[in-house]
Order: sequence, then structure tokens, then C-alpha cells
Amino acid sequence: MTSKPAAAAARATVHGYPRQGQHRELKKAVEGYWKGRVSADALHATAAGLRRAARGQLADAGVDEIPTGDFSYYDHVLDTTVMVGAIPDRHRDAVAADPLDGYFAMARGTQDVAPLEMTKWFDTNYHYLVPELGPDTVFTADSAKQVAELTEAVAQGLTARPVLVGPVTYLLLAKPAPGVAADFEPLTLLDRLLPVYAEVLADLRAAGATWAQVDEPALVQDRTPAELAAAERAYRVLGGLTDRPKLLVASYFDRLGDALPVLAKAPVEGLALDFTGAAAANLDDLAAVGGLPGKRLVAGVVDGRNVWINDLRRSLSTLGTLLGLADRVDVSSSCSLLHVPLDAAAEKDIEPGILRWLAFARQKTTEIVTLARGLAHGTDTIAAALAANRADLTARAASPITRDPAVRARAGSVTVADTRRPQPYAERAAAQRAHLALPPLPTTTIGSFPQTGELRTARADLRAGRIDTARYEERIRAEIREVVAFQERAGLDVLVHGEAERNDMVQYFAEQLTGYLATRHGWVQSYGTRYVRPPILAGDISRPEPMTVRWTTYAQSLTERPVKGMLTGPVTMLAWSFVRDDQPLADTARQVALALRDEVNDLEAAGTSVIQVDEPALRETLPLRAADRPAYLAWATEAFRLTTAGVRAATQIHTHMCYAEFGDIVRAIDDLDADVISLEAARSHMQVARELAAHGYPREAGPGVYDIHSPRVPSAEEAAALLRTGLDAIPADRLWVNPDCGLKTRGWPETRESLHNLVKAAHTVRAELPDH
Ligand code: GLN
Ligand code: ZN
Repeated sequence: MTSKPAAAAARATVHGYPRQGQHRELKKAVEGYWKGRVSADALHATAAGLRRAARGQLADAGVDEIPTGDFSYYDHVLDTTVMVGAIPDRHRDAVAADPLDGYFAMARGTQDVAPLEMTKWFDTNYHYLVPELGPDTVFTADSAKQVAELTEAVAQGLTARPVLVGPVTYLLLAKPAPGVAADFEPLTLLDRLLPVYAEVLADLRAAGATWAQVDEPALVQDRTPAELAAAERAYRVLGGLTDRPKLLVASYFDRLGDALPVLAKAPVEGLALDFTGAAAANLDDLAAVGGLPGKRLVAGVVDGRNVWINDLRRSLSTLGTLLGLADRVDVSSSCSLLHVPLDAAAEKDIEPGILRWLAFARQKTTEIVTLARGLAHGTDTIAAALAANRADLTARAASPITRDPAVRARAGSVTVADTRRPQPYAERAAAQRAHLALPPLPTTTIGSFPQTGELRTARADLRAGRIDTARYEERIRAEIREVVAFQERAGLDVLVHGEAERNDMVQYFAEQLTGYLATRHGWVQSYGTRYVRPPILAGDISRPEPMTVRWTTYAQSLTERPVKGMLTGPVTMLAWSFVRDDQPLADTARQVALALRDEVNDLEAAGTSVIQVDEPALRETLPLRAADRPAYLAWATEAFRLTTAGVRAATQIHTHMCYAEFGDIVRAIDDLDADVISLEAARSHMQVARELAAHGYPREAGPGVYDIHSPRVPSAEEAAALLRTGLDAIPADRLWVNPDCGLKTRGWPETRESLHNLVKAAHTVRAELPDH
């Protein structure tokens, strides 16, 4: 690390910034517009005010180059679709009639027109709208939004850098439009798309952009030689343009790998690379290609995806190494700060000592500015900040919250035997059959029943002190009575208590586990106007007392039929939280698993014979690079087994996942060693059953026969038809009958009717079984 000033003064920047405002003003304005309560002008004014405030925060913190164009009313990939004119045919009239309403129609659909499909943005919890392209797609440039947002910043006297989704990533994120052959590859449209980017870049230069950032995160995934060649061509073409800003090609979320030499050689003026976590491998890779002579390197050393303070000294040492590898080194976040909440200082409920360990977007911005100053003017100039940072890191490392000796001792003594059920599956299946005595094609649900307005009101009343805990709990018991009575009337075989007491499947457990922190304002955009407040896995995890047992046993006391206990699995507990950065994920997962294992064992001891451990996030946290997947799947499946392996043979372990594409993890699913799995399948018409069978899945499975994502009620005939196709793949003694996810977002009327039809379908098909 140098104390001398760097050759060219390092500058501070960020890749992007949260959009919503401190009080989610954007959500309120957009939803108000949808409901007709906020005019378009008022919405635009709110948005402009939020952008101005965000730029002000960045400028006041000392950021030298401010990103623009990263703001969005809904999603930046949808904004890119508008920018390149790739409006799906079915939305063209609406967009022509009113661009704003047309934009929201693409995002949300209308009564008559389906929205674009939504999917996860790489391995984050942000969701984007999938571009729909085909051989007939005609691209046209619309730089209006980019130019307007740049102009706002320029008018404020700021140095601004427009941020665009890059053409290669845009095409790689796209899918064939409806009616287009499924094997159509959007990347074949690259040569048609590049002139549109050329036009936008020219417009941005004319509007005052010296630099433009072009994001290519798709290049951190495994890419074929053809895809890498496309990236090479894209940046040869864009780099060769004369009328354009300087280009900064940004990658994030992982190392660039094979794409690094491609971009390093491209005729662009700068690269932005992620140097956090696994992406730190970029450092050696960069040295191996001889650095970026003559280019600008924007070094993402402050993690844009977690909530922890940076280790400033370590970052300075990385930056010091990088100084020798590029013409100029600037400091940034590893990715857009969109993925973290805005301001840790707003968290008045978090103990001040712990708050010092946390950095949200505003605090990260300050860290970046500090690092840039240290790099440019020597570490002496940031001595006070370094000392404070050292003290905070030391306090965190030494805190009893971070290190609970009992938790560590227990996690350290886990043996292979703890992670394996003692009996092989076949033996357990026989014991469970004898113990549970269920009919063939047993019926059940995934756990939650409708979360009614009254339940939400009761929870709000409890929080506000309008009712006391006793009143609230009586309200929950009343709901359980109703849910159990309904299921008995409907004739379901394995009942649930309905999850009325749960606000959210992760938060509910996080609130009861020691080591987890909750935030009050820590909102992060999940999609559109939906924001989530992920809890923070801050310390060692333990369970002071049972979390679900009294609700499950209460439900069981009301019925002779088995009531299924319902827990959120360790992988999902991590995936939907902010995780620790001071120990491997596997270690955190193991601690969470041990806490959940106690819950599983307590449920069993209280008389619960069927226990479901939901892992809807198992697949979504799959690492971006195939080479990293086996290690992930190893600890993820181990954590699940550690959670569930402490029960008797006759106790049946279920798991649930909410997706149908699982071909790449079917082995891992088997490795969970659960007795029964329920999956989403209603929409893919039992194809899931066939896939499971094709992969030789030996256990019981319940591919959903009722699509809970829509209010539509499936008829008994329809459900029976699905069941019959399911029976082609999975025999009757291993096929379960259930909806494809929880019912919490559904209303009671359609839930009642649908479950009646589901049970009727099971009865019909049972009667058709040969030995029935
Ligand atoms: N048991 C949960 C429920 O029914 C499962 C939710 C999920 O898979 N996302 O609500
Ligand atoms: Zn689900």
C-alpha cells in the first residue's frame, strides 16, 4: 500500500443507486398513479425529486462521477426494451396511445394483455422483465429517458455517467417472443441492435456525457465461444464509433473469467470489475492478461450486495495492487447499490454499537469516497477513518453476538451421522405407511391458507399496542380452528395449521432466532413497486425456545388426521436475508440448520408425524458459474439434512420448492433425502412428474395440480386429468395431490372451491386404480 499520491488522482463513483427514496416515495407515487389517485405529472415530479435527492446525496458525499439513467419507474431492463424499441406486438397500441400506461401494461399486463415474464436478475432477489425477441424484431433507438436524466444532472453542474444495460447482456437475458421457435437465439440479433446503441451513445455524447457505462453482467456467467465472440464483436463495433462518449464496460456479481481477455483487448476506454467475494479472482486474472494498459479501471471494492462495513485497509491494499495494472484506477461499489437499503442511520432500533458494523447505500458511498481519497492523496489523509474502521471491525469480530461459544462448539462437533437419517428411504417409507395409514394419492396443501385483511389488521393492532398478545393469539387460534375445520370438511388427508401467525416465511423465524437483526426501513426493491426488508444474519444463530410447536400442536389437538408441521429451510433462511461476510455461507447455514433441527425434533416430540421444510430458494442461490455449483449444493443439501435427520423412521419429512425447472438440481433434490417433495407443476401440466421419473427420482412427490398464482378455480375434471397424466410417470403409492404453492395470496372463496375440486379429483382417480 502506498502513502504517495497515485499517478492520476483516483475518483469515487458508484454503479447505480437505490431508486425508492427514504420512505419509499416512489412506490407510493407509482401505486397511486395506478389507482388513479396520482396524476402523471405528479408522478413525474415525485420521480424527478427523488433523482435530484439521490444525486444530491452522492455529490454531497463527495462522489466525483454520478450515475444517471439507472432510475426506473419499474425496471431498468424494461427501460432498455423501450430504449431499443423492442415493444412486444401485443403492447404496441397501448405504448403508442400513452407511453407511461403502455410501459406499465408491459410490466403488469392488463385485463386483456399479458405482461412480460418476470425473472430473477442473476443471483440477486431483484426481478427484471424478460425481453421478448424474434427474427422479425426491428430495433429503433429511443434515447429520451437516458438523455433527460443525464441532462438533469448536467444542469445541476454534476459530472454524470449514463448507465446502460449492455447489448450482449440485453440479448442474453431475452427469450423468444410468443409464437417464435423456442430455439431462436436472441443473440443472433446483435448486428441489428448495435446501430441502435450507436445512436443512443451519440445522443448521450451530444447531451454532455464524457463517459457512458455499459453493463455486461451476463459475461460473468459461463459463456460459449460463440457468445464470447459476440461480445468481442459488440465492443469492436461500439469502440470503433467516432461519435460516442468514452465507454466503461462494467461487469459484476462474479469474476469475468474467459470474458476478461476479450474485454481487456476491446477498443473501449475502461472496464469496471468486481473485486469482492469470489469475484476477487479478477485481480489475478487481470494481472495474468497484463492489466489494462492505457485504460481506466473502475474497481468495485465495496460490496454492493451486503450490508457490512468495508475493511478499508484491505480494499486499499487491493487498490494499491491495481494501480500497477491500469492507466488510472477509480473506486466504486461492486455493483449497483440498488441491492442494499438506503441508509443505516435510519435504523433507530438497532443498538448503536451494532449499527456501526452496518453500511447501507449512503454509508457505502462514504466508504468509496474515503478509499478514493486515500488512494489519490495517501493514507495519511484518511487516517482517522481508517482508525475508526479498524476499531469497528475489531469490535464486530470480538463481539459475543458474532461469536457465541456454545453455538460454535455445537456446529464444530457435527458429524456425518448427524446429517444422515439412520434408515434408508425404503425402510422409512414402509414405517411411514404403517404409521400414517394414508390412502393412495393422499391430499394435502403447501402450508399457508389465505392471509385475510383481518389477520393483517390483528398483526398491525398488536404492533401498535391496540390489542395485547393474549388477544392476538386468541385471534390466531380462532383462525386455526377455522382452517382445520374447513380441511376436515373438504376431506383433505394431511392437514396444516395454515400459517396465520406468519407475516413472512423468513422474517417469522428470523424474529425468533438469536443472531438475526431486523430493520425498520431496510427496504430493497424486489420487483416493480414490491420492496422487501430482508433480515440480517448478524451473529451466531441459536433458538432460545420453540418457534412453531404450540401452533402445530394446537391444530393437531383439533383433529384426528395428521397435521403437518411447517418450517422454512436453512438455505431459504440465508437466501432471503443479508448474510454474514465474516465466515463461509456453509458455516452460517449449519448454525441455522442446527436451530431448525431442534425445532423439527421438538415438533416430533410433541406428536407431529409429518414435517415440511420449505426450500423454495434452493435453486435461486445456485452460483452463476457451473464450477462453483457442486460446493454450494454440497453445503446446501447438508444443511437441509442436518435440519431433518434427527427424526424417527416413521416421521415423514416433506420439502417444497416453487418451480418447475429443476433439471440442473434434480440430483441435489434427491440428496436432500426428504421423503416427499411438492413442486410447482400445474402450469407445466405434469411435465414435472415426467421429469422426476425420467431422472429416476425414487421418492414420493406432489407435482401441483392447482395453480395458486391465479384466482382461477380448476375444475375437478381438470385436476383429475392432470392426476391421470401424473400417474403415467409416478405410481399411485408415491403420488401426492396438492396445490403448487401456499394459499396465502388467495381469497377464501376460490380456495374453498379449488380444494373441494382437488379432493374430488383424488377420489375419482383413486376409484380408477386397479386394486381399488
Ligand atoms: N409453506 C409456505 C406456504 O405455504 C411455502 C411458501 C413458498 O414456497 N414460498 O406459504
Ligand atoms: Zn411454493
